[in-house]
Amino acid sequence: MMTGDEYRASLRDGRRIFLNGERVEDVTTHPKMRRSVDLIAAGYDAYYEQGAQAFNEAYEPPRSSEDLRNRLQMLTKWDTSLVTTLESLAALRTAGQRMGETDVPYRHRLEDYIAWCQENDVRSVQTISDAKGHRDRKIADQDDPDVFVHVVEERPDGIVITGAKLHISAAAITHEMVLMPTKMMRPGEEAYAVACAVPVNAPGVTILNSSIAPLEHEIEEHPYSKTRSMPEGFVVFENVFVPNERVFLNGEVEHSATFAHSLGLWQRVGGISHMAKNYDMLVGLARLLAEANGTERIPHVRDKIAEMVIHATLVRAGLEAAIANVSTTPEGWVTPSELYTNAAKFFGAREFSRMLAIIHDIGGGSIATVPHPGDLANPETRPLVEKYMRTMEGVSGEYRTRLFHAVRDITASDFGGWWQVAVSISGGGLYAQKIVTSKHYDMNHAKDLARKAAGLEDFPT
Ligand SMILES: Cc1cc2nc3c(=O)[nH]c(=O)nc-3n(C[C@H](O)[C@H](O)[C@H](O)COP(=O)(O)OP(=O)(O)OC[C@H]3O[C@@H](n4cnc5c(N)ncnc54)[C@H](O)[C@@H]3O)c2cc1C
Repeated sequence: MMTGDEYRASLRDGRRIFLNGERVEDVTTHPKMRRSVDLIAAGYDAYYEQGAQAFNEAYEPPRSSEDLRNRLQMLTKWDTSLVTTLESLAALRTAGQRMGETDVPYRHRLEDYIAWCQENDVRSVQTISDAKGHRDRKIADQDDPDVFVHVVEERPDGIVITGAKLHISAAAITHEMVLMPTKMMRPGEEAYAVACAVPVNAPGVTILNSSIAPLEHEIEEHPYSKTRSMPEGFVVFENVFVPNERVFLNGEVEHSATFAHSLGLWQRVGGISHMAKNYDMLVGLARLLAEANGTERIPHVRDKIAEMVIHATLVRAGLEAAIANVSTTPEGWVTPSELYTNAAKFFGAREFSRMLAIIHDIGGGSIATVPHPGDLANPETRPLVEKYMRTMEGVSGEYRTRLFHAVRDITASDFGGWWQVAVSISGGGLYAQKIVTSKHYDMNHAKDLARKAAGLEDFPT
């Protein structure tokens, strides 16, 4: 296993990284990336054990509902890179299993690759969302063939790929990118049915980053996002060579969607386990605001918090149902229920903006206009903040000011905006979850019940 410092050193590997238009020579020291690197390094240190046999349990598949529950609970405490590693390797395992016996060579490669990741303690990212071009055109009708990653050359020892994958969280500060087709490819689109693993520093890879990480002097105002921001990578592949042992799909269009569906399942169950925790946190925030403002007994405020409690409870119920209704593979691994995972993800993502709207309604304008931490630090202005932000005995001006900093950071800052988009769209938009939920829903059972209720059992179906 690696220590935090070994992880830092491993990132100084010649990777081609840009942020805000400038080349980043060392991601471990860049002011917008350093804290994200430190966060992952702390994760490495937390799990570090000495010895050749030591490995992180995140790389092992869960083998029971209880095991899955524990793993998902840990996931909410892990740094993003460990979460993306777990989800991408679990997706590879599930995809390998779903491809079945006909694709045994790929299954061996997948297993060998997962074992290699485990042995080397590397972190990987889910690299699936293509640039896509015109959303309503087939690949052959796109103006530019590169808007989906594809094979541009076959060699005896591997393939060469070109294209771009967008929105790849934490790519710039991890080791491996696990590429999968973003959608089902059709006959004629064989070059686009490609899944493989590419090191972040491979020749031909360029990553343009966006980052909402607060700078050092902004940290006090961002008590939440200071430990949660990761760079988002716009990853370009220009004639990147991938050796055969890292190619997991090459031309088999019939399996092209298997990877995306497998990743979708693991991403979404990861999403709802974070959501279950975060929804409870949002309920708590609303209640703290009501108490600090003296409105917690007012009927419409109580009613709104009760509505948030219902949403938080239903998201958790969906998570619990997904864990309780696992499927077990012949190898003895478990996968969460597609039905409950997707239904809960859809519900939680749709209601997220409502949760934030209630917080804003209860909190009031200070969420947007609260004085800066500098006004608390300056002896000339601090008494003014203390006097006018105070509401009662036990609610000092400083406490209420800091509470509003947190609420703004979580719900109405750069991070708050990023979070709303992330909850709604990452893991696929809401429509994707509707499709998967409907596919796994027992419609025949529903129709039988309806026929019985209508007294129509004797009619032909
Ligand atoms: C914060 C964040 C982090 C992310 N992290 C990752 C990551 O680590 N790895 C990764 O691979 N991806 C990541 N994503 C990408 C995410 O999975 C995609 O944004 C998502 O799948 C939607 O794709 P898109 O952005 O291209 O939007 P689009 O596909 O353009 O979708 C926008 C809307 O158009 C609709 N639409 C588009 N095409 C069609 C069509 N043909 N028919 C019907 N409706 C259509 C969609 O349903 C949706 O409502 C991340 C996204 C965000 C916001």
